[in-house]
Amino acid sequence: METVTYNGLTFKPYIEKARIDERIGELAQTIKRDCQGKMPLFLCVLNGAFPFAADLFRAVDMDAEISFIRLKSYEGTGSTGVVKEVLGLTEDIKGRTVIVVEDIVDTGNTIDRLLKTLKSYEPADIKVATLLFKPESLKCDIKPDYVGFSIPQKFIIGFGLDLDGLARNLPDIYILDEQSEG
Ligand code: IMP
Ligand code: MG
Repeated sequence: METVTYNGLTFKPYIEKARIDERIGELAQTIKRDCQGKMPLFLCVLNGAFPFAADLFRAVDMDAEISFIRLKSYEGTGSTGVVKEVLGLTEDIKGRTVIVVEDIVDTGNTIDRLLKTLKSYEPADIKVATLLFKPESLKCDIKPDYVGFSIPQKFIIGFGLDLDGLARNLPDIYILDEQSEG
């Protein structure tokens, strides 16, 4: 694998597709075991989580449903700063087992806010599945239930993750080559 360049930044190969596939298979088995007989509802957080959600959902060979949500951010005037509104939640999640599917948990602010909103709809249980997790960046009191890979505090792209909208379609994950930053 070779380096890739976007917006003048160079990225090095970091996690190969084969390793991602293997890890998703393992997560799927764990989820299947934990959610047997519960008909979980997977909630894919767009845009970044779509490749992960597609692969994870197919790998979980049990009765399950999937739906897609999007978080709309806008600058709030209150003390909380950026407010995120949940768009596209059409299912009634009351009493259900919900698995939120994220591409990455960085500071945890996004997932923390989302979980608070979803909990207000009274699901039976909410779990978080994230392909990537930066534990050193975490600023919230949350802990993802299913983590693909814990990674250092570095910027990555590919397999759904973007740099200004680009690179989501790379099959593998790449990490910023900090030597290339001018
Ligand atoms: P949070 O800080 O956990 O709220 O993460 C917010 C969002 O930042 C994630 O959903 C991603 O869209 C984005 N993000 C965080 N780290 C990275 C990264 O390394 N590459 C690409 N996007 C990232
Ligand atoms: Mg995201």
